[in-house]
This record gives sequence, structure tokens and C-alpha cells, in this order.
Amino acid sequence: QPVLAMHQVSKLYGEGSGRVAALDEVSVAIPRGGFTAIMGPSGSGKSTFMNVAAGLDDATSGEVVLAGQPLSKLGDEGRTVLRREQVGFVFQAFNLVPTLSALENILLPFDLAGRKVTAEQRQWIDQLVHTLGLAERIDHRPSELSGGQQQRVAIARALASQPAIIFADEPTGNLDSRSSREVLTLLRTASREYGQTIAMVSHDPVAASYADRILVIADGRIVGDHGPLTPQQIS
Ligand code: ADP
Ligand code: ADP
Repeated sequence: QPVLAMHQVSKLYGEGSGRVAALDEVSVAIPRGGFTAIMGPSGSGKSTFMNVAAGLDDATSGEVVLAGQPLSKLGDEGRTVLRREQVGFVFQAFNLVPTLSALENILLPFDLAGRKVTAEQRQWIDQLVHTLGLAERIDHRPSELSGGQQQRVAIARALASQPAIIFADEPTGNLDSRSSREVLTLLRTASREYGQTIAMVSHDPVAASYADRILVIADGRIVGDHGPLTPQQIS
């Protein structure tokens, strides 16, 4: 069973002649463990795809099945719980809490869900912190970290609870090229070595080159579904 399945999903905005199909009968399945990049020009529907897939926004028609749960059958609260338990988010702007240390930020989703960190989870988080090269910075606040380090904290936060899927929205949008490569390598490692499913929205072909599948969106439709990019396609 795929982690995410969309069946003829449409999302319409506006009324009458101003009506826009931000998603137009999109059907796609994202299997467990894949690293999928969602590419397309500005206004093509990438954010809408992510918001509808994650249950942040309702589809106008069609069905989204996330971690085995049809979203149309869940109320707002059910979807919030599903997101909390099964979905991780990584954003362009990092979205860390400025008053908390790196470690406190990583543990925040557990606090928000009112869940205790088990010994096993604590071990996994320690491993993540080391793998991400954050061990010496773990008590620092976000303002004391570089952009690349902040994004690594955000990725650790998303990976900590081993969610069914991580949605990353332009995760390298605020990073220099070296930090971008580090962050993308981490995402790829999370997918290849830890089996973490990742869906990344990006318009950067270099970022997409780290993914093992590229979905191309134009005018709310999936117009391309490719394997990894070749070097010629990247340049
Ligand atoms: P992208 O993320 O690729 O830039 P979006 O998903 O943000 O694209 O937008 C897709 C289309 O839907 C665009 O035409 C956009 O103007 C429209 N759209 C997105 N959000 C809204 C909204 N809240 N109200 C009206 N139109 C919207
Ligand atoms: P865009 O990609 O269009 O520039 P953003 O990256 O700011 O927009 O946000 C994408 C979507 O993710 C927004 O529609 C917003 O509702 C949602 N979002 C932003 N921050 C959070 C958050 N901390 N938790 C959950 N959802 C968020």
C-alpha cells in the first residue's frame, strides 16, 4: 500500500469565470521509502498539491489516502491527529522556535503531541543528531546556528518521530549551494538508508537531481513522471 495515494483529486479556487483548477484530476501514488521531487513553474499547483496531500487543505473532489486513511472520512481533528502522528514538515524558512535550543526544537513535536520519548526513540534521535553533525551545537538556539545547521535541525525534527511521510517545501530555498548539497544528501540518505518517504517541492533542478523520482506539475496536472534526472537534464 502506498504512503500517499491521490485519486482524481481536484482543487478549485474562485467562482465563475475566475475559477482556477489549482489541481485538475490528479492521480498519483507515492510508495514507501521513495524520495520524490515535485517540480513545476510558479503557480502550477505545487503548494496546493502539498497542502491537499497533507490534509492541510480540502480537495474539492476526488480522494486522498494518506498513511492508509481516506482524508474525506476524517474530520478536522482526525486530520490534525493523523498529521501529528504520520507527517513531518520541512519548510524553506526552517520554522524553528527561536527561544528553544536545537535539541528542544527536535523534541517539540513529542511535547506538542503530549507524548513521552521512549528509550528507543531517544537512541534514534541521538543517532540523527550525530549523523546530521549537530552534536556540538545541540544546546544552541537557532540564531546561533548557520542556515544550513538550522535546516538540519528542522530535518532532525521531521525525522525524529519516523513519520510515514515528510513533506519538504523548497527546503534549500534559503541556503547557499554548499549547505543545499548537505541538506539534500541528508534527505537522500534518510530515504535510502532509513526508508523514510519524502515528497519535496522544488523548482531547482539541482535539488530535484537528488530525488529518485520527479513529478512535473503544470496548470494543476501531472505532466511528467520520471526516474532520476540525467546530468544533461540538470544543466
Ligand atoms: P505553486 O506552489 O506551484 O506556485 P500554487 O499551488 O500556490 O502554485 O497555486 C496554483 C494556482 O492556484 C495558482 O493559479 C494560484 O493563483 C491559485 N491559488 C492558490 N491558492 C489560492 C487561494 N487561496 N485562492 C485563490 N487561488 C489560489
Ligand atoms: P509557499 O510554498 O506557497 O511559499 P509556504 O512554504 O509558506 O508557502 O507554506 C506552504 C503551506 O504550508 C502553507 O499553505 C501553510 O498553510 C503551511 N504551513 C506553513 N507553516 C506551517 C507549519 N508550521 N505547520 C503546518 N503547516 C504549515
